[in-house]
Amino acid sequence: MFTNKEEFKENFLKKLEMMCGKSFGESTKRDHYFTLGNMVREYVSTNWINTNERYRTAREKQVYYLSIEFLLGRLLHHNLLNLGLVDVVKKGLEDLGIDLYELEEIEPDAGLGNGGLGRLAACFMDSLASLNFPGHGCGIRYKHGLFEQKIVDGYQVELPEQWLRHGHVWEVRRADLAIEVPFWGNVETKMENGKLVFRHEHTEKITAVPYDLPIAGFQTETVNTLRLWNAEPSPYPIHQDILTYKRETESVSEFLYPDDTHDRGKILRLKQQYFLVSASIRSIIRSFRKQVGDLYSLSQHIAIHINDTHPVLAIPELMRVLLDEEDMSWNDAWEITINTISYTNHTTLSEALEKWPVRIFQPLLPRIYMIVEEINERFCRLLWDQYPGDWQHIERMAIIAHHEIKMAHLALVGSYSVNGVAALHTEILKIREMNNFYQIFPQKFNNKTNGITHRRWLLKANPLLAKLITEGIGDKWIREPERLCMLAQFKEDFSFLEQLSRVKQHNKRRLADRITMQTGMSINTESIFDIQVKRLHAYKRQLLNILHVMYLYNRLKEDSTFQMHPRTFIFGAKASPGYYYAKKIIKLIHTVADKVNKDVRTNERLKVVFLENYRVSLAEEIFPSADISEQISTASKEASGTGNMKFMMNGAITVGTLDGANIEMKEKAGADNIFIFGLPAEQVLNYDQNGGYHSMEYYYHDKRIRQVMDQLTNGFFPDSDNEFEPIFDSLLIENDQYFVLRDFDSYSAIQAQAGKVYENQNQWRKMSLMNIAGSGYFSSDRTIKEYAKDIWNINPGHY
Ligand SMILES: *Cc1c(COP(=O)(O)O)cnc(C)c1O
Repeated sequence: MFTNKEEFKENFLKKLEMMCGKSFGESTKRDHYFTLGNMVREYVSTNWINTNERYRTAREKQVYYLSIEFLLGRLLHHNLLNLGLVDVVKKGLEDLGIDLYELEEIEPDAGLGNGGLGRLAACFMDSLASLNFPGHGCGIRYKHGLFEQKIVDGYQVELPEQWLRHGHVWEVRRADLAIEVPFWGNVETKMENGKLVFRHEHTEKITAVPYDLPIAGFQTETVNTLRLWNAEPSPYPIHQDILTYKRETESVSEFLYPDDTHDRGKILRLKQQYFLVSASIRSIIRSFRKQVGDLYSLSQHIAIHINDTHPVLAIPELMRVLLDEEDMSWNDAWEITINTISYTNHTTLSEALEKWPVRIFQPLLPRIYMIVEEINERFCRLLWDQYPGDWQHIERMAIIAHHEIKMAHLALVGSYSVNGVAALHTEILKIREMNNFYQIFPQKFNNKTNGITHRRWLLKANPLLAKLITEGIGDKWIREPERLCMLAQFKEDFSFLEQLSRVKQHNKRRLADRITMQTGMSINTESIFDIQVKRLHAYKRQLLNILHVMYLYNRLKEDSTFQMHPRTFIFGAKASPGYYYAKKIIKLIHTVADKVNKDVRTNERLKVVFLENYRVSLAEEIFPSADISEQISTASKEASGTGNMKFMMNGAITVGTLDGANIEMKEKAGADNIFIFGLPAEQVLNYDQNGGYHSMEYYYHDKRIRQVMDQLTNGFFPDSDNEFEPIFDSLLIENDQYFVLRDFDSYSAIQAQAGKVYENQNQWRKMSLMNIAGSGYFSSDRTIKEYAKDIWNINPGHY
């Protein structure tokens, strides 16, 4: 352990020799990273042990957050910051001629998630620990996280991600706590002592081995646990072909599914889901038995949260444990289960609502299937009492119908709380998508607007801004982010605003340097950095953005009187490997970039950049340097968004639709400090339901649209042949499902307005300041406090 720089240096050198078997002179940067990482992990250990001890003895209610994704990113700086060690370590390393920043760059991102949903889980872990809540995560230790994206000739190529190649310094393998998860086989039903019992036999077992990560709170003694399960062969395989068995077993935790909305029915995916859930539930029950004992009181001591429906089998699995292992009656088990489990819905896109064919589900999980069937039967009986004779209604709401299991229905029936992730989204669930269920269980529904940890996304990612804020309002905002509202006092303070602008310039310079390094392009940091970074998806409408860039280019070429402040449009986005249309849009962005960037008549004013392999560590550099944040999803389709909040907290101004959390951002920043455009959700939903939209009319009546649409297919882009026909067709032949053409006019108008306002720097800086000032509400600390109070009923520990 070390308390000052000299001790740190001494320990570091000793540790380096011990761990790497090398002298300092021979050692590499990776050795330094590895040594430092291990020192920091050991530093955390004492508090980790103490926290666990406290949880064992104090019997506080605990929450377990089950999620198929945790998009953690890097942990070194995060841990140093939370432990308050940044200064000591930085200076100690400097003395040894080592740059801390360079060591941080060696750490691979733990990219165990696709996007917002997985990143939310990671932010929640940080907030739980930082607020001293007894809250833990349960996930899967995928050997390969989300694929690494390379762009070759404008096309996305996916490479397997290798975050474990050099080991992960933060994890602790706990082989002693392994759990065997059974699949396949058959269920024997017998009478034993006058009671019906179920035995799951002839199973194929997979061993789930926990790897625990310590989650240290920000300058507190709480260290919670994120438990990631690794799939390994059972030590007693009954199979002949050991190699096949080993390969099949390990495949369960080999890959993260790179699909963040579509769920293609893969057995392996279902196996992953049950693997996570069974190992987690049984390890929760195991430690509960040791600590408290009486399972009838489970829901008073434990809350289990499921992040979307991927872990929904927690419901039948908990039932199974209580029925088959604890010998409880159905009614008792059910009562306990629905008082323990709560559920967050993340989307209303129908393609993302999970359904499993019975023919796949039943053989893989025979006992679980029986329980789901029983839950369904009882639920349908309840429906029959409510809606006697209305078969259609019952069929629509059933958990199993048409040989499919509807996971969202199971979650709605088997939990005590269902929350949406932004006010609009929750209203849409209540009034439309889940209205049937809302009618029966109105008390279950509630809203919890998403948040982000301001510690990673402001304090760490934007140290200069954090420093300026502290100079202005003191440092209490770090513990109480809602205090950021005090920044509003500087809105007429010319000098403060100027400093704010200097911070932004500095961050833009840093990103510009990265762009130059990666692409060779030179970037004008006086240009507006207009940024859209997020997964590539039709509903997020990167297409609207790039079509508008094409329009600006046409204007610049054709209209010598056209004025615009120089802009750099920056994109970052991964497309799911099987998502053909999304990949076309990536190719289009590159094709436009190629044309626009080369044109010396326009490229002083218009540039397009695509940053490959968008991920958490890159995101940390991007958000602080944005002037404009593009949040332009088709209204009603983005449940919340969290990228929008990261931009806002870093002083970018949003160009956005009235969708997801943008609506609440507008309230918090003030309507004058955000650029809103486009169809409101109600109209989109009305079109979805009743039709009445004809994209072809916009093509015929708006010549800007006609020109860019024609350019997709008329040879405007040399050598592009029929490349962009699918885009053309989706917008015109298939009637533009996401209203890109419908919103084009209002989008280009608001973009022109944003450009004008930017020329009035004082006004722009004021708007930027008001965004930061309004962003405190979007700290995940606020979100977690709401979950803790309204859903989980847990309390923070005191020190
Ligand atoms: C925040 C974040 C997201 C989510 O962004 P949205 O704009 O809300 O879709 C996705 N990926 C990464 C790496 C993030 O940090």
